[in-house]
Amino acid sequence: MKVRDILLAKGANVYSVSPDNSLQDVVRVLMAHRIGAALVVDDDGITRGIITERDVLRECLDRADRLHEVPVRLAMTSDVVVGLLDDDIENAMALMTDHRIRHLPIMAEGRVAGLISIGDLVKACLDETAYENGFLREYIQGR
Ligand code: AMP
Repeated sequence: MKVRDILLAKGANVYSVSPDNSLQDVVRVLMAHRIGAALVVDDDGITRGIITERDVLRECLDRADRLHEVPVRLAMTSDVVVGLLDDDIENAMALMTDHRIRHLPIMAEGRVAGLISIGDLVKACLDETAYENGFLREYIQGR
C-alpha cells in the first residue's frame, strides 16, 4: 500500500498557519480541526516549517501564560522532513520513526499534496493486515 492510498481516503486538506501567528492561534487551529500539526506557510505561499502540539507544549514550560505573545516562527521546525505520494507506507513509517516525528507532509510535483500522521499509517497497516487475514482464512477453508 502507498501513501497515495491513505490520502485518497482521508483527503488532501492541509491546515496551515502563518509564521507571524501566535502559539495561541496555533492551539485554536489544532483544537478546531482536531489535528496535531499545522504547516507554516508565509504570505507568498512558501512553506517555512511545521508546528506541532509538541512544540507548543515545549513553550508552555516557560511561557504558558504568554502563548499569545510567542510567534510561530520561534517555535516551529524549519527543516521539514517530507514524503512522496508513491512512498510505501512501510518507508513512510521508517522515516517517521527514524526522525522521531508523528507528522509527514507529502509532496507531489514540488507541491504539498497532503499530510499524514503516524495514526493514519497505523490504521492503514491494521486495515492491510485484516484484509490479508481474511484472504488467508478463506484460502485455508477452501472457499
Ligand atoms: P511530532 O512528534 O510530530 O509532534 O513532532 C515532534 C517534533 O518534530 C516537533 O518539534 C515538530 O516540530 C517536529 N516535526 C514534526 N513533524 C516534522 C516533519 N515532518 N519534519 C520536521 N520536523 C517535524
